[in-house]
Amino acid sequence: MNTKKMWFKLAGVIADNLPTVSQDCPACGQAKIDFQYVGEKKAMRGFLCIWCTSCLHGIHISGVRIPDHAEFLPKDQVELIKKRIPNFKAG
Ligand SMILES: [Zn+2]
Repeated sequence: MNTKKMWFKLAGVIADNLPTVSQDCPACGQAKIDFQYVGEKKAMRGFLCIWCTSCLHGIHISGVRIPDHAEFLPKDQVELIKKRIPNFKAG
């Protein structure tokens, strides 16, 4: 499986295991995965960022459904989002 596919697979694992995830990073193999949903409460849609706090690789997946029990940031809280989600590299 290529790295991109592994990140997408991880998105499914995260949605199924909220609120925590302990998975290995597809890029470096360390169990340092963090994630954040961002979106709108009314629609419960938005995007999901998943990244590794060790190597700062990750993925941004847009157009996701936010699970009912997921914690998410409102998408207009730009400063909060910037603080929460590091500037990671794709892949
Ligand atoms: Zn990593």
